[in-house]
Amino acid sequence: MNLQELIDIVDKYNKNSDDQEFIKKAYTFACSAHRNQLRATGEPFIVHPFEVAKILANDNHSAAVVAAALLHDVVEDTSIAKEKIQSEFGNEIADLVDGLTKLQKIKIKKSWLFSINPLERSSVRKKEYELHLENLRKMLVAMTKDIRIIFIKLADRLHNMQTLYALPQEKQQQIAEETLEIYAPIAHRLGMGKLKGELEDLAFHYVYPSEFEQTKKIAGREYANKEKYMEKAKYKITEALKENSVPLIDVSGRKKHLYSLRKKLKKHDNDIEKIYDIVAVRIIVDTTENCYKTLGIIHKLWRPLIGRIKDYIAMPKPNGYQSLHTTVFGPNGSIIEIQIRTPKMHDKAEKGIAAHWNYKTTQKPIAISKENYSWINELGQIDTTSTDKKEWSEILKLDFFKDRIFVFTPTGDVHNLPSGATPVDFAYSIHTEVGNTTVGAKVNGHIVKINYQLQNGDIVDIIRSKKSNQPKRDWLKFVKTSRARDKIKNKLLGKSKLPFIN
Ligand code: MN
Repeated sequence: MNLQELIDIVDKYNKNSDDQEFIKKAYTFACSAHRNQLRATGEPFIVHPFEVAKILANDNHSAAVVAAALLHDVVEDTSIAKEKIQSEFGNEIADLVDGLTKLQKIKIKKSWLFSINPLERSSVRKKEYELHLENLRKMLVAMTKDIRIIFIKLADRLHNMQTLYALPQEKQQQIAEETLEIYAPIAHRLGMGKLKGELEDLAFHYVYPSEFEQTKKIAGREYANKEKYMEKAKYKITEALKENSVPLIDVSGRKKHLYSLRKKLKKHDNDIEKIYDIVAVRIIVDTTENCYKTLGIIHKLWRPLIGRIKDYIAMPKPNGYQSLHTTVFGPNGSIIEIQIRTPKMHDKAEKGIAAHWNYKTTQKPIAISKENYSWINELGQIDTTSTDKKEWSEILKLDFFKDRIFVFTPTGDVHNLPSGATPVDFAYSIHTEVGNTTVGAKVNGHIVKINYQLQNGDIVDIIRSKKSNQPKRDWLKFVKTSRARDKIKNKLLGKSKLPFIN
């Protein structure tokens, strides 16, 4: 690990001495802040932010993103305050670091992790658990004011997954499950296919160890079976494109990620014969026209399977993925899936939205709004693959949650309230009796005013008194939910005692 390594990566796409100096400064600052700290792996702590910065630099992210990655754990894990980052590195970096610090709060409720066996999640409680996960995903999006925070968070998570072996089992379970259920789905919806696949495969064996082994065995067998046909197919394709004067940029074999194979196997009752894309040939040609021309050439070469031709160029997947897919009876009658795309489509399939937000674009903070993310919004409306269509189209509209906030109970449940909601609204959202007996509230461990406006990620603890079973008339002036308003009015008017029917 040395600084020059990082600078060299950034230089490859953006040689700029100001950027170099900025990254150097962030590196020196982070080294000094984390000195004497070790990771569970036994390495100096700085290795972690350094590796996260490298992941982002390799994806062509701007100097600001790389610097923020170097500093991302400084506020969380050392005594240095946000203000110090602000005075040293400016508002942009301070806001990115602050946003990342806040995301640390997003955690799956412990009792879920250790109360249900992953293999038994088809039970009724699964729905309840799904709702909890859904709220955490929404909270993450609602808390993110700048999409670059998500990019850094995902790179952070990737490196944490790569070093997860060093942690105690309980933490492995927690972090791997969050990766599988919260971070990978968000990477997927942002079209970041490469990262999504990596995160899932790193988490898979921690969460479902026996299924992991089983899937690995099946995949290994299939790879061995198909390998020789793949080589033949690649050779034939290269020759055929040459004959037809289609400039071939790349032809390669791609293996399906293990976790997505597992999902597909489940869908097909573990029948491997029904899965055609465990290995696939990927062809990259220069233009969209040549993609279609290549498809024609392939179909002349080998007979396609009925119903397996998919035009994701004309009809992209909801997350923006574009390619032509076909499955053919290839060399020696072996069934092979073929994917055809341009370099630009390939880049987008791997990096998704991040392909649009690298160093080439503005250095300014990117607000998550309808205007900046119009294409995301559009994607949400043409979802054809997801089963939970509505849910995901909501997540994609990153400003969808601007009118909602997500807060925790002290035990880690998530409550979803309108913006501007107060501890009183929160109390009534739990139970009428909790509302009626409220005398105060603690937020993140500190006493707050009863009309305090709750913020995303707040941990809210209601202080109650059995003696005070009476809401205050004043509360009506500030409560935001109709539920709280109605309950308060009822209690004040004595309506709650109405059922006198014998
Ligand atoms: Mn970190």
